[in-house]
Amino acid sequence: MRTELTAMAEQCKRAAESSTRDRATGHWPRKFCAVAWLCVLLVGCRGPSANPSLPKRMAAQSDELRLMSDHRLPKNHPLIAELEELQKEVATTLDLPQQTQQVVIYLFSDETRYAQYLQSAYPQLPPRRAYFVGTAKELAVYAFWGEKIQEDLRHEYTHGILHASLKNVPLWLDEGLAEYFEVTEQPGWNGEYAAGIAKAVSEGWKPDIDRLESLDTVSQMQKWDYQESWAWVHFLLHASPETRTLLLDYLNELRENPNPEALSVRLRRSIPTIDQRFQSYAAALGSPMSPVAGRPAELR
Ligand SMILES: [Zn+2]
Repeated sequence: MRTELTAMAEQCKRAAESSTRDRATGHWPRKFCAVAWLCVLLVGCRGPSANPSLPKRMAAQSDELRLMSDHRLPKNHPLIAELEELQKEVATTLDLPQQTQQVVIYLFSDETRYAQYLQSAYPQLPPRRAYFVGTAKELAVYAFWGEKIQEDLRHEYTHGILHASLKNVPLWLDEGLAEYFEVTEQPGWNGEYAAGIAKAVSEGWKPDIDRLESLDTVSQMQKWDYQESWAWVHFLLHASPETRTLLLDYLNELRENPNPEALSVRLRRSIPTIDQRFQSYAAALGSPMSPVAGRPAELR
């Protein structure tokens, strides 16, 4: 059993309560999900029921992943190849250890079946297009065939890979990394977020990693927080070898220690001007000719 489960029980209880509020307010359209996840079994909520059923066809199986689908998928289906490649990309980029758990992806044939299952199994969760749900039993991704299937699976499977490899991942970093790895055309690059962050900086916005670190429930995270989380991840991975090393060292400690010293403290100790450097980086994200926006793939 994952040792962090007990420690996170109270947090998960709060997340479950928050999820109920989120549904009422309808803030988020889709996958803003990561920590809604652990609550289900830990707070004694109802577990998955037998009906509606989960997808039953085994489409892929490896040490890291089991893909269960409603549809029969050929072994060489591009989706399977992409998930396998994503696992390697995430593990290599972040220098993650071997997964200690397999991530199970349940791929429903359509939204109706998906929604019926989620409503039956996890009635406390608000409607979202895809979910990552971690329990004492398994790390599971739930999704359905739709226009955004690639993006959804990449985002949720990234959560799965992280939680199958590390003892814990702070909420903001969990989401920032999932946002980073969900895109494919220019890996890690989200043009909408980049433009939004750069515009905000031009209007006087000041980044605040301490505020991001204080967020511990999904209900506290607004769309803007996902953007800023993505931008910090992009900055840490691309700004310099030193910033990349600081992030990787932090993730390395999360292999064994679920509650290490805050990343912000480490960053400022090593680079006292880190906040100003991030702000400059964020300002340059909006320029298509900037070193930042123009060369993300080369810098990786
Ligand atoms: Zn997420």
